[in-house]
Amino acid sequence: MPRIASLECSRCHHHIPAATVEATPQTLCPVCAGSLYVRYDMDELKRTARREDIAARAAASPASLGMWRYAAVLPDATPVTLGEGWTPIIHSKRYPGLYIKEEGANPTGTFKARGLSLAVTLAKHYGLQHLAVPSAGNAAGALAAYAAAAGIKAHLFMPQDVPFANYVEGVVYGADVHLVDGLISDAARIVGERIKQQKESNTPASEIWFDISTLKEPYRIEGKKTMGYELVEQLGWTYPDAVFYPTGGGVGLIGMWKAFDEMEQLGWVTGKRPKMYALQAAGCAPISTAFDQHKPTSEFFQNADTFAAGLRVPKPYGDYIILDILQQSGGKAIASDDATILQSILDYARHEGIFLSPEGAAATAAYDQLLNSGELKPTDKVVLFNTGAGLKYTDMTAEAMHLRRPNTLPTSLPVGGIITPQ
Ligand SMILES: [Zn+2]
Repeated sequence: MPRIASLECSRCHHHIPAATVEATPQTLCPVCAGSLYVRYDMDELKRTARREDIAARAAASPASLGMWRYAAVLPDATPVTLGEGWTPIIHSKRYPGLYIKEEGANPTGTFKARGLSLAVTLAKHYGLQHLAVPSAGNAAGALAAYAAAAGIKAHLFMPQDVPFANYVEGVVYGADVHLVDGLISDAARIVGERIKQQKESNTPASEIWFDISTLKEPYRIEGKKTMGYELVEQLGWTYPDAVFYPTGGGVGLIGMWKAFDEMEQLGWVTGKRPKMYALQAAGCAPISTAFDQHKPTSEFFQNADTFAAGLRVPKPYGDYIILDILQQSGGKAIASDDATILQSILDYARHEGIFLSPEGAAATAAYDQLLNSGELKPTDKVVLFNTGAGLKYTDMTAEAMHLRRPNTLPTSLPVGGIITPQ
């Protein structure tokens, strides 16, 4: 595995040298508070990292299972792994060009496993003992699992109406679980205040929480970038025409774009990069609103409300990066309403055998919309991410469908179940 050469700010391009990175865990750019990218010595990687070696190494060693097959392009540390990554890419039964990347196959049932496996790996490497995260739900669940695997305490802050699975998994993994009256933005504020208080009250350094929020430390992007390496390898080291990505915080999109850049430098892939599509829910659509208005950053989305819980991110920290990638790639952002998202869940479940998460169904709903408008053809090669297993959202989906267990219905219904006026 390669050593980190430096961290580079995504906004002002300030570099943090390797010696500083080795000595202390890093958060944001010290100059402008931009998100940091891990940079390697690419000349050295060109000699040591060969795409021909990946499959053989993965077959030979359990340490190279899942996303760690790309260890040659990940930071040098002993992995905290639960078998994340190398998820199936499923060919659609109906559309010849459509491939669904099933991230529900990850540990804890979502793509969040990738970023948190890598971030917790580095946290353990640095000897951190307390990790805190504000989350829309699934990042909290993933942090709880990886922190448990690493012997680190996890502190989770998420909205009180998260999918029930997210609350249960946090408790089961033994995390310190806090349900917040508000959204991920409120959870983030509380985490920031707690850490500030700890620093001001002479809390011992080992007891101070480390904020492992999306894009506020450099390693979750590094884990997520493996989605970009994987989709290219799974398509025979070629690019698709487009990538459809449900976008809350947008780290996956940012990570994939970084992967494409690295793979091109390494000579692992050539040709035109895919158009990147960021898919959102109409009830929380800061990126699609900013995209439609040709703005370089998003505005805080007021009164965010959608059953696609992972998309309830009113102001993504990396909005400027996401919007730049959409622009550069020739893609766009599209928001679908909850009724359309629910219809898409049922459509893909019944005709493809795939139980999408509401976030994944925001992507399929947009895909169908572009097919209907003629902007996309069924033969265009599209990789669409189902970012989580539909089963993690059983309560939300059941509620949206007005479904209840038969034995919880009122017992006084007339025979035949027909409700008549009194
Ligand atoms: Zn900066």
